[in-house]
Amino acid sequence: MRVRFWGTRGSIATPGPGTVRFGGNTACVGVTTSGGACFIFDCGTGARPFGAELMAHTPKPISATILLSHTHWDHIQGFPFFAPLFVPGNQITVCGPEGSGHSLREVLSGQMDFTYFPVEIGQLPATITFRELGEGTHEIGGARIVAQYLHHPAMTLGYRIEADGAAVVYLCDHEPFSETLWHGNPAPSHAESIVHEGDRRHARFMAGTPLAPHSGRDALCGSHILVVDDDPDIRTLVNKALSQDGHIVIEASGGQEALALIDAQAPDLLVLDLLMPKQGGLEVLKVLRSRPATAALPVLVLTALDDEVNTSAGFDLGATDYLTKPFSIPQLAARVRVCLSRRG
Ligand SMILES: [Zn+2]
Repeated sequence: MRVRFWGTRGSIATPGPGTVRFGGNTACVGVTTSGGACFIFDCGTGARPFGAELMAHTPKPISATILLSHTHWDHIQGFPFFAPLFVPGNQITVCGPEGSGHSLREVLSGQMDFTYFPVEIGQLPATITFRELGEGTHEIGGARIVAQYLHHPAMTLGYRIEADGAAVVYLCDHEPFSETLWHGNPAPSHAESIVHEGDRRHARFMAGTPLAPHSGRDALCGSHILVVDDDPDIRTLVNKALSQDGHIVIEASGGQEALALIDAQAPDLLVLDLLMPKQGGLEVLKVLRSRPATAALPVLVLTALDDEVNTSAGFDLGATDYLTKPFSIPQLAARVRVCLSRRG
């Protein structure tokens, strides 16, 4: 299977220098099997460039399956701009969760009402088939698709697609069922130590899948994170936020101390300030990347230096991600989750 991320943002497309690395489009992930079956997970604005690529480089007529997690705007807004829909002979199957009060066709028609868009859904020349899915296993396009409901204020499905002897899970917008994720004495990363059955079920759904594009708080909790900042207030803030997310947090006030703690405790992730007396964050990063043991350690740079020179210096030296101060707690939690998901 080949997986490509065409849109990774939530809520609204965010073009500009700040989103150059991962793109500014909203949710859309393409999966192509070795047999040529094409799956499109969500139809945010990323569906526009994906549609253009399909038009340019795949055999005609195009046959594709769109799997919508839910119909919040950021997951369907690219649908009217998906070029293969405008070509007669193309076959597009649109799957999505059942039970949202309206049929899938009605919901997608809504944003293409004449008031909002010049082409109504019934005028699209491609053959469009709608299929509403519940939880369970479905055979679609020669692949096995397992669907499971997620926790979100809309009927939302997560998908596990199995083909070519591999599996990929697409889960978005999931929120934990319980604020307390782990039992008092947890074995971190072990699903049965999770308090809420809904969260346990969610962790089991992801288990054993090497690639799981995911948004929402989940079993990535319970990691060891080292926060390096000379400002004690920032350390306390970050520590509190990440501890609440179920992580085990240790702190260092400078570069030397951080390097010693990394050697001694082998954390899963480093949250690193750039401007520190004596040894700055970029120097620490340089040392880490030069050592085999820490060359792949995820590093989230957290700094007030938001200019392009420092941002690209950070990425050039191997920062995994970059978050500028001031930041919000949900932003930090999300970035940490993403960095952790890229381990190994
Ligand atoms: Zn949503």
